[in-house]
Amino acid sequence: MSRILLRNCVLLDPEGPDEAPGTLLLEGERIAARLAPDAESEDARVVDLAGARVAPGFLDLHHHGRAIFAANHAIGSQVRHDARELLRHGVTGFLITSVAWPGPRLAEFVTSAAEAASAPSGDGATPLGLHLEGPWIRAEAAGAQPRVAVRVPEGAEVREILARGEGRIRMLTYAPEVEGAEMLQDELLRHCVIGALGHSLARHLDAERVMERGARHVTHLYNAMGAFHHRAPGLAGLALADERLTCDLICDGVHVDPQVVRFTARSLGERLLLISDRLDPEPGADFGAGPLRDDGVALRLEDGTLAGSRLTLESAAANLAAFARVPAAEAVAAATLRPARLLGIEAQRGTLRPGARADLAVLDGRGGVLETWLGGRRVYPTTG
Ligand SMILES: [Zn+2]
Repeated sequence: MSRILLRNCVLLDPEGPDEAPGTLLLEGERIAARLAPDAESEDARVVDLAGARVAPGFLDLHHHGRAIFAANHAIGSQVRHDARELLRHGVTGFLITSVAWPGPRLAEFVTSAAEAASAPSGDGATPLGLHLEGPWIRAEAAGAQPRVAVRVPEGAEVREILARGEGRIRMLTYAPEVEGAEMLQDELLRHCVIGALGHSLARHLDAERVMERGARHVTHLYNAMGAFHHRAPGLAGLALADERLTCDLICDGVHVDPQVVRFTARSLGERLLLISDRLDPEPGADFGAGPLRDDGVALRLEDGTLAGSRLTLESAAANLAAFARVPAAEAVAAATLRPARLLGIEAQRGTLRPGARADLAVLDGRGGVLETWLGGRRVYPTTG
């Protein structure tokens, strides 16, 4: 089995207090050991990282990419394209994320994406499964989701979609106040799908009802949900206050103001996760909500409504460190260890523990991606 010694680097350990110089020994697809900076190994190939920082590969629980724009027959090939693109940004695992669509399109997407998530990932980030964002959300909080497709969950459709997912649906975002939400949450729990609350104007009592039945995550805190008010906390207030909930945030400086990111990070601590909510439309592309405009930072519908981001997780982590003034290792944890923990895969991914997969992001001093490693091989850049 091939052994590689990654030397002259600083380890950004999401489980450590902060960054520290070290050496990483890789054996085949795994991390074999964390060693002192001057460690040697006779039979290992030495790779000098010239002082760069090494973090676990980023894990994106909410990535739309190009796949949501694909015609039905091309969904699989666009997922593979997205998977390769993500390596440029240090992402080694992601959830293929849908939007609210009418029945036939949603069904086709789930079937094709589940198939893509079952196939060997090759030289791309690993699709860890599917995240269905809607369609069982609140029309008034749809954001850029196609409103015509927003509907209430009905048992037959819920069960059909979950069956088509063949166990690959890992997360589903729904509004807890819609009629049928409790039935939906019961089905999600039965199928081991994370019930995530979002696109909602829920009062906190609506959310507590589904939390009693197993809901435990909040999707893009503050965006597409009722505003926090000190006498009407709603879903955002509950998310901040209730320690049973983890929350993800779009940390691009536009979706949530940097000051709000700062107090949110303080309030949530380890419950804060980072997502990209990224879309990669070709010019003129439309996923069902109308034409999109790229303003250089985010995507918007013609009326100005935010419609997903142009964010990468490398920038999200760097932004979090800057906005919230937290150490780099803690910002990295929000995009590695914590999503892995939520998915229940932290024994394999999201850490620098011996035994974990050698999926790594090699970063420069500002958090930009220099290299990405997948299963003990450098896969980005591919030459040089
Ligand atoms: Zn989204």
